[in-house]
Amino acid sequence: MTVSIPLRRDDGSVEVLMGHRVQHNLSRGPAKGGLRYSPHVNLDEVRALAMWMTWKCALVDVPYGGAKGGIAFDPHNYSEAELERVTRRYTSEIGTFIGPERDIPAPDIGTDEQTMAWMMDTYSVGRGHTVLGSTTGKPLRLGGSLGRSSSTSRGVVHIALAALRHRGIDRATATAAVQGFGKVGRSAARFLAEAGLRVVAVSDQFGATVCREGLALELLEKHVDATGSVVGFAGGEELDPDGLVLLDVDLLVPAAIEGVIDLDNAPLVQASVIVEGANGPTTPDADRILEAHGVLVVPDILANAGGVIVSYFEWVQANQAYWWTEKEVQARLAERMECAWDFVLRYADAHSLSLRTAATCLAVARVAEAHRLRGRYP
Ligand code: NAD
Repeated sequence: MTVSIPLRRDDGSVEVLMGHRVQHNLSRGPAKGGLRYSPHVNLDEVRALAMWMTWKCALVDVPYGGAKGGIAFDPHNYSEAELERVTRRYTSEIGTFIGPERDIPAPDIGTDEQTMAWMMDTYSVGRGHTVLGSTTGKPLRLGGSLGRSSSTSRGVVHIALAALRHRGIDRATATAAVQGFGKVGRSAARFLAEAGLRVVAVSDQFGATVCREGLALELLEKHVDATGSVVGFAGGEELDPDGLVLLDVDLLVPAAIEGVIDLDNAPLVQASVIVEGANGPTTPDADRILEAHGVLVVPDILANAGGVIVSYFEWVQANQAYWWTEKEVQARLAERMECAWDFVLRYADAHSLSLRTAATCLAVARVAEAHRLRGRYP
């Protein structure tokens, strides 16, 4: 569904934005997927991201199909009041298409828990009663789940540690670089450091910072909170942001945007393990090159599935109006991530496949099986 979103700007002028919501496959349950605010949003991108969600949900066995939404604009250039008006109008435009049993949005690039609170409220006003299960990634005080905001990053780190173990790399001496310092990258860097790795470089859309002895992440987070970027951090040296993926590290976590490891830079990648925090950071050409060079690439649909797993937990809790402790959420997340890792690794080994091909085969087979079992009606 593509919708127009007329927005009255704070200065009184009117602008019309374009929004999309794509549902890719509903065989295994209601659609589920993030909402992205970025100037690069277009229907093809949203469609591809919706399909990824179908495979991701199937792979980690949460009972959803795939969806994705997006509005083509740069949220950094709009006031909070304008963002609220955009979000509410978009929600009302797609209102008949979404809901806890139909399609459940969540945060993605450029959106956050406040966005989900506005969406839930707008949807609920339209229904005449509060529907907490209509979005996930909501604030804790409004039907959010403990552990949701850091769940994608925690999942990335569970998988990264399993992948390093698999490669025989000791985490106590391992180094890591993280691309992107947003919702996924920032906490992933912190959890990697807490697990004993030395995080030597991070980047964002404005630049990158590197320190071979390991970045002081607490200070870096303070710097980012104060300035809005990793650029200018006194505890690191400036680095060309494109150079981050080429650093000589054990672990590379691309956690920003798609297509950053491509035909041109893949031959120069020195990391032993890549764990895809972002969706689609590695192009198919790059994948072939990395495989030939013996780099272990853990695909997005496995590596960043922690977010949708805890979104599922949030939806279950909201529908039951019964809240779990953070310990319960973390334990269930860890169990599902480790289970999915073993499932994919065993299949890849048994059939001599890359982890991406193995994960995709397993996910597609689950969707196909559900589709076949449902049969045809009438
Ligand atoms: P976000 O908007 O919170 O953060 C994105 C970060 O990437 C920002 O720090 C931004 O400055 C940086 N960035 C943008 N362009 C860059 C570039 N060219 N080089 C380096 N950094 C750049 O978004 P997010 O939610 O952290 O999402 C990041 C990725 O993770 C996306 O691919 C998203 O689809 C995926 N993902 C997110 C979640 C989630 O729960 N948020 C779940 C699964 C997957």
